[in-house]
Amino acid sequence: MRGALNRAKRRTMTVEEQAAQIRAGDRRALARAITLVESSRADHRERAEALLAALLPETGGSVRLGISGPPGAGKSTFIEALGGQLIEQGHRVAVLAVDPSSRVTGGSILGDKTRMERLARAPEAFVRPSPTGGSLGGVARRTREALLLCEAAGFDVAIVETVGVGQSETAVADMVDLFLLLLLPSGGDELQGIKKGVVELADLVVVNKADGELAAAARRAAAEYQSALRMLRPTTADWQVPVLQVSALEARGLEAVWRAVGDHRAALGEAGLARKRAGQARAWMWSEIEDALLRAFRAHPAVGPRLAEVERAVAEGRQPAATAAKALLQAFLGEK
Ligand code: GDP
Repeated sequence: MRGALNRAKRRTMTVEEQAAQIRAGDRRALARAITLVESSRADHRERAEALLAALLPETGGSVRLGISGPPGAGKSTFIEALGGQLIEQGHRVAVLAVDPSSRVTGGSILGDKTRMERLARAPEAFVRPSPTGGSLGGVARRTREALLLCEAAGFDVAIVETVGVGQSETAVADMVDLFLLLLLPSGGDELQGIKKGVVELADLVVVNKADGELAAAARRAAAEYQSALRMLRPTTADWQVPVLQVSALEARGLEAVWRAVGDHRAALGEAGLARKRAGQARAWMWSEIEDALLRAFRAHPAVGPRLAEVERAVAEGRQPAATAAKALLQAFLGEK
């Protein structure tokens, strides 16, 4: 009954009222708004876009931190510990977990409710797993939009977490100010199942589990990564990617990580940060255009039904790829 009443109330709430609740830092309103941006229903999309447009002036005020690493590196332990310290210092911390392996109803590496339990309960934090159930492009858009909503709700640290299995890191690196790679004390990208390209995305490398019997291995791994990183082009001018060692379990070394985050921001400078974010926003717009165009193309009545046959013809060498593409595009554009 109350649920039905609430639903009826929600339906009549204006976009401006909903925006006001989010600006006031109402966590339930924030959670509902994120559900809204996650929906692919056309009317929900329209509402989500209106809401984001209303809130846009309130966005941009957080330190956007991407965190990735192989399964078991200690990402949730690390975020729980770092987030806990930041809260103690008066920050408000939002954590969005991108999990390319999950489905809405299926299992999930990151979506597990028991991860970051303390942080999830803290009133100064907001933890949200982001199930995919679709394309990576879709996840990236929803996570970007959720991040903007968190900023509008007053969170000044936004952490976007993703499991480092080589699919979603670029998408995450493209939406944050600093991309942190959390590694195990074992060394060697291959050993950890991470791709070379992912290490190149990192603004900050952190070797976790530098404690007990693993301390020596962590030191070795850190030295190894430090020399490997010297060979790479820096992600930011005047920025040598630091390799730090921490123990998330014992909450040691986290101050140095947060200091490095600040140093990186200082190296970027106000103008550099603005430029980085502007570039990200522009790229995001183009990826939205590409996605929408491709969807419209595949769904076009003069294209969709022919696609399978044309693809086969190209695969079997009966038609040149360029000719096939041109014919389909002409059909799409109504030129034939
Ligand atoms: P995730 O898959 O990257 O999120 O990793 P988890 O945070 O779930 O941690 C994986 C395992 O590593 C758990 O058993 C943790 O207790 C353990 N772990 C995490 N951080 C540390 C650490 O700093 N030191 C040690 N020794 N173990 C850790």
